[in-house]
Amino acid sequence: MKRYSIFILILFAILIRVSAEEPYPVRGLCIAAPTVDVADEFADFIDKVLAPAGVNTLVLRVDYGYRYKSHPELVGGHPLEEEEIKKLVAVCQKNNIRLMPQVNLLGHQSWAGSVGKLLEAYPEFDETPEVEFPEEYQWPNEDGLYCKSYCPLHPEVHDVVFDIVDEITEVFEADAFHAGMDEVFYIGHEQCPRCYGRDKAELFAGEVNKIRDHLKKSGKELWIWGDRLIDGKTTGIGLWEGSYNNTHRAIDLISKDVIICDWHYEKAHPTAVLFAAKGLTVVTCPYRKSDVALEQDLLLRTLIRNAPEEMKLRYAGMMQTVWGSAKGFMNSYHGTVEEERRDASADCFKALSEIWSEP
Ligand SMILES: [Zn+2]
Repeated sequence: MKRYSIFILILFAILIRVSAEEPYPVRGLCIAAPTVDVADEFADFIDKVLAPAGVNTLVLRVDYGYRYKSHPELVGGHPLEEEEIKKLVAVCQKNNIRLMPQVNLLGHQSWAGSVGKLLEAYPEFDETPEVEFPEEYQWPNEDGLYCKSYCPLHPEVHDVVFDIVDEITEVFEADAFHAGMDEVFYIGHEQCPRCYGRDKAELFAGEVNKIRDHLKKSGKELWIWGDRLIDGKTTGIGLWEGSYNNTHRAIDLISKDVIICDWHYEKAHPTAVLFAAKGLTVVTCPYRKSDVALEQDLLLRTLIRNAPEEMKLRYAGMMQTVWGSAKGFMNSYHGTVEEERRDASADCFKALSEIWSEP
């Protein structure tokens, strides 16, 4: 009888331990870097809201919104100064939050009718130099212009963008960098004398690996969005969350230590298994819909529970994406904004953080 009681106690202890175990290691938030005027408020938000909510990974989209010393010609309007970044670094270190910067590489070099800083300063890097911005941007359009890309085979482009990568990761004191690389529609384009006729999967993978190799030299990790690695047509996932331009075979060509952020906003597509089965580590990313995020959390737990040991750790976790401003997100979180301007990703984040912050 005594032995039986001890057995029950041990079983009870194991059950408590299992229920207290974190379901997955990454609980992240990806958001635009705060503007200068709200940097202090955002630092406080990290300390008082994000950390208690269970966030342990924070990706800040900086792009050219920092006063780069290596390339002053690329600095955008109202840039963050080193002083503000250091405040964010300190509060993240205090709360054991892994902080990393994002600068969009390859794609997203323009938005609607406006060119980004890189191609504004270096128009020779443009993959589609003949595509002009219309007076009034509309999608779809004859040129298939969503965002411009830089040419990954231009002999000078990496001299510039790697300076930016090195400088921003240094000021962030980061051991990882997010390069974006989503929704690349212009690649291997007929207007590019270097790329046209080449295999688009090889071009995409070549650029991913080049960035990865550069970061690896200083022991840093590369994170990217996963949509170009999903066959959009065969899966039915479409040309935004998936690729319609044959880049998806790059999934077999990129280095296995690149971290894939698998974003799906309308439905909990079970694509994490696609990446994990290829040997890649994957982070599932929701946006505005709480029901989708909760399904993704459930799916992820199911995958981890049923995975062979080899694959379990590749399901790294979840990262909430926010596509509005940091100020808009904070106001929506605190309920201090009119209903019509409310950022629904704040509600989605609350739903997730209730799970993450459970003891
Ligand atoms: Zn090119």
